Amino acid sequence: MAVTTEDWRSKYRSLAHEVEQSQQAHDTAIEDMRRLVTQVDVAVHGQSPDLDQLLGTLAGDLQSGKLARVSELIRKTEPLVRQLDEARATHANELISRINDWVSFLSAEVTEQQAVELNSIRQRLVDEPETTQHLPEVIDRLIKLQKAHPGRDVRTIDSDDLSQQSDVISSRLAKRLLELIQQLNIPAEHRASAHKLVEKLEANPDVAELEQCLEEASALARVSGGTIETEIQDYLLKLNDQLAYLRTFLDKTEESATQQLNRNNLLDQTVRHDVKKISLTVKNSNDLNELKAAVNEQLASLIKAVNNHKKQDNQHIEQLQKERKELLSRLDQMEQKADHFRQAAEEAHVKSHTDPLTGLPNRLGYDQQLSKEIEHYKRYGIAFSLCVLDIDLFKGINDKYGHMVGDKVLRLTAKVIRGCLRGSDFAARIGGEEFVVIMPSTSGDAARQAAEKIRKAIEKSPFNFQSNPVKITISIGLTGIRTDDTAGSLFGRADKYLYNAKHEGRNRVIGD
Ligand code: GH3
Ligand code: MG
Ligand code: MG
Repeated sequence: MAVTTEDWRSKYRSLAHEVEQSQQAHDTAIEDMRRLVTQVDVAVHGQSPDLDQLLGTLAGDLQSGKLARVSELIRKTEPLVRQLDEARATHANELISRINDWVSFLSAEVTEQQAVELNSIRQRLVDEPETTQHLPEVIDRLIKLQKAHPGRDVRTIDSDDLSQQSDVISSRLAKRLLELIQQLNIPAEHRASAHKLVEKLEANPDVAELEQCLEEASALARVSGGTIETEIQDYLLKLNDQLAYLRTFLDKTEESATQQLNRNNLLDQTVRHDVKKISLTVKNSNDLNELKAAVNEQLASLIKAVNNHKKQDNQHIEQLQKERKELLSRLDQMEQKADHFRQAAEEAHVKSHTDPLTGLPNRLGYDQQLSKEIEHYKRYGIAFSLCVLDIDLFKGINDKYGHMVGDKVLRLTAKVIRGCLRGSDFAARIGGEEFVVIMPSTSGDAARQAAEKIRKAIEKSPFNFQSNPVKITISIGLTGIRTDDTAGSLFGRADKYLYNAKHEGRNRVIGD
């Protein structure tokens, strides 16, 4: 069968139609591809210069219908896109790790409620380790926490602690001063001011009051005279230096606290500023890379500010601690010196109040004791008695047996007198062969009996010289304290009775 022209025409038309359709499909495919390439380009632009260039060329070729290189260009983009994916995963991990740093940074010293929130954030980071969609929300929550306590992780100078320390130091100094004042041999006319000073020192004076006390103590040491007092005065001067040092230290501490307050304010401002910036970035950003870069930068600045602050603070605290240590060590040295003085003063006191021959208190000891007894009597009305005792014809003993024997007699007499007395009684040797006895809470017959007891004990004491008994007797004048008595009038009366006893034949007690 012959093919007609009509057949050919029809076949051609249908073929042309097919070709046209296939051309259209091809064009659509190219157009779709071009659109896809443009979208990819927009999505990944700026992350890899090579990829940017490839995608640009591909889009251009597709646009202008040059299809010769398309397959090759597509092949080349594949590994670059894969690399980009991997980089994205790394970036996300880095961001998560920075966020974890932030969580740790905020974890120091939080309230219970904040700790709960931080734990929940930590859990969220653990639960979704691979994804990044939740990060803006996490950062948002962290910002809220950061805002609640900006710069919380900062050590503060505890001013209460420091003022306690200064109280401790002041009370140590006050105690030392008290001890020293008690060592002074203060003349009667200055005793009232010494009492006032003691009261001040016992009332926990502050540093300023202590300085005043120190001046008064120094004045007392001056009027007291004597070698140990001069040394104490030197010591007081040094103590004054310590006090000045303590004052400087306290001033510095106060200044430091102000500086710290200023630094805290500055830190507060910096943190608030940084947090605001992070907050804005999180709000405005949908791009993970941008978010990462911004959070990194702002977190770094925030952490730097806090670290800087901590560093400065630590330096200040270290300096203060160093100075405090220095002050305490100086105080320790001063206290050791004070101990030495106290010991020396005690020894000097005992020495100056003791008779070396008999070991009994001497006239100075007697004067002091009598003043105390009179004061006690005037305050509480409890009477006491005073005996003045004198060895009879002692000159004869010296002349007959020699001074050494005389001394032995004096020692024995002292021993016998002491042996007759109660613990609360007081005996002293106030002159050559002259003794006194103070009997507190004793008067009238009881006093006379006590005096008689001494007299008899001396009379009976076995004193031998070269196996021959040597007779020793003692005469005693005895009197009781009276309302208007002074130390002088009381002693004068007892001495007068002693004189009478001598005149009436010795070896007797005469009194009121
Ligand atoms: P009377 O009974 O009147 O008290 O006579 P007396 O001899 O005891 O009194 P007088 O005052 O005449 O003599 C006291 C003597 O005591 C004179 C002095 O040499 C002596 N004497 C004073 N102190 C000491 C001393 O420390 N040791 C010795 N051995 N004798 C002393
Ligand atoms: Mg005498
Ligand atoms: Mg005598």
